[in-house]
Amino acid sequence: MTELDHHRSLETPATAPDGVITVQNLGVRYHGFLAVADVNLRFGSKEISALIGPSGCGKSTVLRCLNRMNDLIPEAQVEGTVAYHGVDIYGAQVDVIELRRRIGMVFQKPNPFPKSIYDNIAYGPRVTGMKSSNMDDVVEEALRRAALWDEVKDKLKNNAFSLSGGQQQRLCIARAIATSPEVILMDEPCSALDPIATAKIEDLMNDLADHFTIIIVTHNMQQAGRVSQRTAFFTAEADEHGDRTGRLVEYDTTEKIFGNPSDTRTEAYITGKFG
Ligand code: ADP
Repeated sequence: MTELDHHRSLETPATAPDGVITVQNLGVRYHGFLAVADVNLRFGSKEISALIGPSGCGKSTVLRCLNRMNDLIPEAQVEGTVAYHGVDIYGAQVDVIELRRRIGMVFQKPNPFPKSIYDNIAYGPRVTGMKSSNMDDVVEEALRRAALWDEVKDKLKNNAFSLSGGQQQRLCIARAIATSPEVILMDEPCSALDPIATAKIEDLMNDLADHFTIIIVTHNMQQAGRVSQRTAFFTAEADEHGDRTGRLVEYDTTEKIFGNPSDTRTEAYITGKFG
C-alpha cells in the first residue's frame, strides 16, 4: 500500500465502509444474453453513489436489481447476491413490497399517479396501513423534504398532471420519501427535465443525502461529478462472439474517478475520448 492509498483508506475509502447494500458477483441475463456480469459494489449509508458509463453497459439493469425491480421483467435472470444490511434480498423470506418501501425508486420520466397531489403522496402510507389522522403531517413533511411544499401547499387537491415536469419529478421523489425509505434509487431522474428543473433536483439530492442513501444512474458525467461522493464506472466491450456484456471497471470516490482514475478506460470515458 502506498502512502497515498494508506492516507485515503483512513479518510475516504474507495469502497463504502458500512455497506447498506452490498452486491457480490452480480450478473443479469435477458433471454440468456449476459447483459452485465461480475459486479461487486458496496454502497455507503447517507452517501450519493453514481453509476456511469456508455449506453447499454448495464447501469439501469444493476440499479433495478437493488430493489428487485427486475422481477417485473420476466426475461431477466439475476445471478449472484444483493444484500441489504447483510440480508440476501433474493432470499425466500423477503417481503418484496416491504423491500421496495425501504428501497424506493424514482424513474427517468416523472410518473405521478392520475390522482391529486395529496393522494399521490398519501398512497404509499395508506397502503402500508398508516392512520389517516397523521396523513396531513406525512404529506406536508414529504413535500417539504422534496422542496415542493411552498409551490403546491395551496393546491393539494389539484391533479398531479397539472404540475410542470420538474415539479412532477419532485412529487415522485416526495412520494418515495413518504414511506420512510432508507435508500432511494434514481434512474436518470433528470434526463427528461430542462436545466433549471435539473439544478433543483440536484440541489434537492444534496439535501436528501442528510437523511437517505441515494444511488443514481446518470448519463451526465457533470451531474455525477456535482452530486455524488462515489462513482462506479461501467463499460461493455464486445467479446470474440461480438456480445457486449457490461462490466464494472472501477468504483471509487468521485474525486478519484474524475481526478485520477486507475483504469485507462475510465480516463478515456471521462475525458470524452470514448463512449
Ligand atoms: P444502461 O442503463 O447502461 O443503458 P441497460 O441496463 O438498460 O443499460 O441495458 C444493458 C443491456 O441489457 C443492453 O444490451 C440492453 O439492450 C439489454 N436489456 C436491457 N433491458 C432488457 C430487456 N428487458 N430485454 C432484453 N434486453 C434488455
